[in-house]
Amino acid sequence: MKRRHFLQLATACSSWLLGARGGAAAEPKAAGEVAWSRSVPVRYEADVAVIGGGIAGVSAACAAARSGAKVLLVERFAVTGGDMTSGGVANFCGQLTGQGEVFDTILAELRRFKAIEEKKPVFHYEILAIVLQEMLLQRGVKLLLHTRFVDAIEKDGRIRECIVCGKSGPEAIRAKQFIDCSGEADLARACGFATVKGRPEDGLQLPMSMMYFVRHVEPKDAFPQLQEGRFEPIRTKDELPMTSVWPDGPRGNAIKVKIPMFDSTDTESLTAAEIRGRRRMMEVLDYHQRVEKKPWRLDHCSPIIGIREGCRIVGDYTLVVDDLRAAREFDDAVARGTFYLDGHKPDDDKRTYILSHEEMQVPPYQIPFRSLLVRDAKNLQAAGRCFSADQLALSSARVSTTCSMLGQAAGIAAAEAIKRGCDPRDLDAGLVRKTVEERGAKLGV
Ligand SMILES: Cc1cc2nc3c(=O)[nH]c(=O)nc-3n(C[C@H](O)[C@H](O)[C@H](O)COP(=O)(O)OP(=O)(O)OC[C@H]3O[C@@H](n4cnc5c(N)ncnc54)[C@H](O)[C@@H]3O)c2cc1C
Repeated sequence: MKRRHFLQLATACSSWLLGARGGAAAEPKAAGEVAWSRSVPVRYEADVAVIGGGIAGVSAACAAARSGAKVLLVERFAVTGGDMTSGGVANFCGQLTGQGEVFDTILAELRRFKAIEEKKPVFHYEILAIVLQEMLLQRGVKLLLHTRFVDAIEKDGRIRECIVCGKSGPEAIRAKQFIDCSGEADLARACGFATVKGRPEDGLQLPMSMMYFVRHVEPKDAFPQLQEGRFEPIRTKDELPMTSVWPDGPRGNAIKVKIPMFDSTDTESLTAAEIRGRRRMMEVLDYHQRVEKKPWRLDHCSPIIGIREGCRIVGDYTLVVDDLRAAREFDDAVARGTFYLDGHKPDDDKRTYILSHEEMQVPPYQIPFRSLLVRDAKNLQAAGRCFSADQLALSSARVSTTCSMLGQAAGIAAAEAIKRGCDPRDLDAGLVRKTVEERGAKLGV
């Protein structure tokens, strides 16, 4: 890819910060420090607080609530679903059966709305948003939307309260157990627990992708072609970034464009990625209209860029790619992965992968409970794409089906710990596994 664009964008954003450098994860030099303190009301008390309402967070909250816990879910956007709704990803990868009752319910509800295609599991993501919302409410989960996790009060590994900020301003949530499903391990990072990101040598994460949607119209109703300048018209197919096109209802397509070399845990870099993503969308759309003569009109772009990989916790166990290759079995298995190693090259915008096609294949594999337990934390688990795994293992385990399983397991464990008056680490892992299996999860490999 052309590094120039990404550097220009990163530098443009950085120039607002004193002493800042350009670059994907440029650490701006601080212009000093300010100490900030303020008393905020403890507005909510819960047994389990889940941070982040993607498919992992929803699954965690639903599972904990089903076990009888009083659960609160914090989501910064207007809808839950994360990558699968706000990110525009509308396709389940991995096995659809044997994921457990939460995922079974999601599927059943999508079917009831006739919102999923059976042959290739493409679904209507606006309907998924409704399905998830209603599942949460039916199970009695307290939902806080437009509410961002900001900070946590933690001592000796135990989190007492989380500080969140919604439209009512900063408030605290007190809970006995916390589950970080933020994708970027926001809660674990705020507490200073160990986290890692990207590939070991330079921290580069798997590329993001921008999702947008077009409608088929009369050519005269398509948008006019781009002018050179801010946008860079694509002349030939070879110049296209990796672009995937698939049907989206009658007379429509969903389109995914790869946007590499940005860091989803860095404010400036993520800003630059969104800007770059929308520009690329216009350039690719223009190519389809002008060169391929497609009568397409932009319908909408996802409100957030799709993030494949953010920051992972360091857990009691880190799942590594060799565990997947060997289909290693764990006594404390609580989830199972069934997707190939989808490791897009972090530094390329073409259809390139870290591994060859043969190397990408792995058998079904198990994920141990220990990889959800945040090292040095007492009452914090992480589920979804921020659980403890190396980059290649995560390239498979990050898919929605597995994230749902991981969330379900964390929710079950949190609720079980509360019942027994202990922390998840103190639980008999065999008991967690048994409950996970009783809830319909198939863990055999
Ligand atoms: C481009 C792309 C294509 C993909 N294609 C597929 C596919 O075809 N099939 C498939 O199964 N999977 C696919 N995936 C993977 C899958 O979509 C995600 O990995 C999975 O949905 C992640 O779920 P999650 O709940 O862990 O994280 P997320 O979906 O990222 O959810 C995290 C949630 O936490 C919220 N949040 C974050 N920070 C905070 C905060 N500080 N306070 C409050 N809320 C916060 C976010 O708003 C979000 O709702 C794809 C991913 C991408 C990016």
